[in-house]
Amino acid sequence: MLPSFDPGRPFAEQLDRQDPLARFRDRFYLQPGVIYLDGNSLGLASRDAEASLLLVVADWKEQAVEGWTGGERPWFYLAERLGAMQAELVGASPEEVLVTGTTTTNLHTLAAGFYRPQGRRSKIVALAAEFPSDIYALKSHLQLHGLDPAEHLVLVESADGRTVDEGQLIAALTEDVALLVHSAVLYGSGQLLDVARIAAAARQQEIPMGLDLSHAAGSVPVRLTDWGVDFAYWCSYKYLNGGPGATGALFVHRRHFGRAPGLAGWFGNTKATQFRMALEFDPAATAGAWQISTPTVLSSGPLLGSLELFREAGMANLRAKSLRLTEYLMRLTDHYLAPLGCRVGTPREPDRRGGHVAVEHPEAAAICRALRAHGVVPDFRPPAIIRLAPVPLYNSFAEVWQAVQVFGQIVAAGEHHRYAADPGAVS
Ligand SMILES: *Cc1c(COP(=O)(O)O)cnc(C)c1O
Repeated sequence: MLPSFDPGRPFAEQLDRQDPLARFRDRFYLQPGVIYLDGNSLGLASRDAEASLLLVVADWKEQAVEGWTGGERPWFYLAERLGAMQAELVGASPEEVLVTGTTTTNLHTLAAGFYRPQGRRSKIVALAAEFPSDIYALKSHLQLHGLDPAEHLVLVESADGRTVDEGQLIAALTEDVALLVHSAVLYGSGQLLDVARIAAAARQQEIPMGLDLSHAAGSVPVRLTDWGVDFAYWCSYKYLNGGPGATGALFVHRRHFGRAPGLAGWFGNTKATQFRMALEFDPAATAGAWQISTPTVLSSGPLLGSLELFREAGMANLRAKSLRLTEYLMRLTDHYLAPLGCRVGTPREPDRRGGHVAVEHPEAAAICRALRAHGVVPDFRPPAIIRLAPVPLYNSFAEVWQAVQVFGQIVAAGEHHRYAADPGAVS
């Protein structure tokens, strides 16, 4: 929480002087003249991630095939090693986390194991405000079982178009439900859901539950083991700064160790017997059983450095600064941008918001384009959201202040009208 609030720039500078994490900013590649507030879409490159990637490339050059088991970073164990390195970030034990695949493919893998429709218990519950890829994946699993998504996919609606009421979600967990999947932090409004409460209700109804942590991992404290969720999956290129297309991660709760993965592959085999090349699959006794293929070593390399940064900074410190940054941004929005027709769509309560702020304006797409033209990088999400993510590892309070000034000047002058509303292929 901020001790006080003042809309002037000196207040931002004072917050920066008091920021214990300010020194981490220099570890990142920041472009001169650019205020980058899109770390919830693609986190910035750090020198640490670059260095670890180059070490992995050096291993390839110098060790060739010996790199699988030799050197300091043997690739054969890389998925497990990186899983263990981020276990604490997501409140899991090291054997419960694996760095493998990508977000949507991991959801497919996990759903193949955890979605087991039986008789009347056949439905999947998800959120209408969910990231579309998750919904596409879940629909395809229904179809693989010969079930019609129109009947068997229950999408819990948002009453206000922004947030989800946990009570309403829990009410949807009826006895005909075979799987629940949802994001911990919504990609649109940035709402952080009360996962502990939802997970307890799912457990009570004996409904397997999967959690998408794409907007949570590295941004908010997560306690997967304690919450008792059955599985989770997330990407590494948003708040974890693993680079474009970085290898994703998955979690399987230890009570499911020994359970056969839905989709098997030789890298899910017990390490000791994998190279016997037997045709009988001998799954690992950990989450490692859910690894299918050879690790994507070059897409995992940056995480060795990036995850070390998180350990150094500490998740509690990062969350404390993130909450200050987002509160400051919301206060500035109220002060400077609300009179210009903007409103904050993110919940105000600290325990109900993630790492970004959704600023709403009917001309959001055009405003985003104008902001980018002025060196402020946000992103646009339909229908009318400008997402601004001040990231505690590399953004400053002064940048937040400056970005809001630029935003206000654009809208006050109507300058965004010069930009077509078309946000382009990638926003
Ligand atoms: C970013 C994101 C994804 C991305 O999926 P990929 O398979 O990595 O392309 C999926 N789900 C959510 C909730 C996301 O935020």
